[in-house]
Amino acid sequence: MSQGLIIFLGPPGAGKGTQAEKYSELKSLAHISTGVMLRDHVENGTELGIIAKDILERGDLVSDDLVISMLQERLKEEDAKKGAILDGFPRTIPQAESLQNIGEEIQISSVVVFEVPEQILIERMLARGRTDDNEETIKQRFEVYEKEVAPLISFYAGDNLIKIDGVGEEGDIYSDLTMKLEPYLK
Ligand code: ADP
Repeated sequence: MSQGLIIFLGPPGAGKGTQAEKYSELKSLAHISTGVMLRDHVENGTELGIIAKDILERGDLVSDDLVISMLQERLKEEDAKKGAILDGFPRTIPQAESLQNIGEEIQISSVVVFEVPEQILIERMLARGRTDDNEETIKQRFEVYEKEVAPLISFYAGDNLIKIDGVGEEGDIYSDLTMKLEPYLK
């Protein structure tokens, strides 16, 4: 059976997680957020969590090897068999390349890019108040985004790349997302 993946790309605070949560439920897809998984590891004090803690607090990226193996294991779980939304993965070119090589049954149905101006993102993140949502860490996460993640938009440039205006009401953004993704789902 083919395992279709939808990749959600966008800067921190763009609303990927909120939209992925709703859309995955609608389509019975697994919602895989590497950020949530890493924060769970930190909270549970696992070996990976101990390594990841300071990295998350600085706003840097956890190493490709660790995140790639974490994701590959997650994709083998039952709920992901019919497909998944990847929220926060890939975040680097090597991570994107790892997806091309993990198996014939895996295919990327669509790549969704959420676009939101930086000033709005900063306001949203400060209001959200996660432990990595302080001003200094936010600044670092934006730098990492520009350097490592934004190049993925060109990497995935092509027919299945969708752009979503992430400014406005959550419900309006969701309608737009649902409409634009429809042609890519069987
Ligand atoms: P946001 O999109 O708001 O920055 P996430 O919850 O997606 O937040 O990620 C939080 C943090 O987890 C990132 O700043 C990074 O340190 C780490 N992280 C998440 N996904 C990855 C990934 N694919 N590669 C490396 N680090 C990651």
